[in-house]
Amino acid sequence: MTGLSDSFQRPINYLRISVTDRCNLRCMYCMPSSGVGLMSHEDILTYEEIYTVAKAAAELGINKIRLTGGEPLVRSGLPELIQMLAHIDTIDDISLTTNGLLLSRYAAELKSAGLRRVNVSLDTLKQDKFESITRCNNNLGDVLEGIEAAKSVGLNPVKINMVVMAGINDDELLDFATKTIDEGWHVRFIELMLPVGVSTTASQFIPVSDMRKHFELLGELEPCLPGVGNGPAKYFRFLQARGTIGFITPVSEHFCFHCNRLRLTSDGKLRPCLLAEDEIDLKQPLRSGVSSAGLKQLIEEAVARKPLRHHLDEGYIPKDRPFTQVGG
Ligand code: SAM
Repeated sequence: MTGLSDSFQRPINYLRISVTDRCNLRCMYCMPSSGVGLMSHEDILTYEEIYTVAKAAAELGINKIRLTGGEPLVRSGLPELIQMLAHIDTIDDISLTTNGLLLSRYAAELKSAGLRRVNVSLDTLKQDKFESITRCNNNLGDVLEGIEAAKSVGLNPVKINMVVMAGINDDELLDFATKTIDEGWHVRFIELMLPVGVSTTASQFIPVSDMRKHFELLGELEPCLPGVGNGPAKYFRFLQARGTIGFITPVSEHFCFHCNRLRLTSDGKLRPCLLAEDEIDLKQPLRSGVSSAGLKQLIEEAVARKPLRHHLDEGYIPKDRPFTQVGG
């Protein structure tokens, strides 16, 4: 087999890069309202360092990159990084996960730099709830404008990710599903990861099997062909819909056996698994002039150290860092 594969024969071709631990929101399930201790600028990899890691990873077989954070669009010059990554021959997919607040401002620049597609995290369509979930008084309209701007510049697909919480936003499941029919939205419903969330409780967890019951009112969900999405979501659509509905079940039905990912944190650690504490430092080697061969060896070591699966269901949670610092 060519390319990277781990000790369980899973092909690894996807690198998620967190470009910052900073965020302009304080989502209740993600970080404390006071925020988290921020890293200093020197702690964060420069764009050149990120490029060096991505190039070495690409030479080993990584061909998909997603930029995340924190909120990636709060780091200045993100289109420059995308342009650098887009010049790596074997990278054929660059995507972004964002809360969408700054998306309308940057969509055109991101697209022309080489970004292909974008996921926008959005948990409500109501302004008051937007403020209470994100614990900031930003304008939900800015996110909606960001979604439209992304579509109009040709970022495709634009996927909307909704973390579903009982008693918080589960009353809006049908509103989001209706958007797949009326506006062609692609919406993915995500199980709340507990106890990873910071200010959430077990009673707010809803398994996907329960979410699906809400949709019966709108008609039958037809499964989409395998291959739609290529990620952990299972995709469906209503017969009359242009858009799709995806379900992501990190808790009730983990998808670790198909995991193809490595993560690079903004402070330069390669993390084999989101939900395990193990990390391999690349920053210090990068700053001491590691060779490309040396860097590749470290990347291969991280791949070899990928655990078979996470153990959220047994109550195991990583204690080292909040989600915002790993890159969700
Ligand atoms: N700021 C960007 C955004 O909002 O998309 C990227 C980072 S954010 C940490 C990435 C994703 O992680 C978001 O879709 C967020 O909803 C999800 N997330 C964070 N904490 C979570 C939790 N406890 N359970 C499920 N999803 C979570």
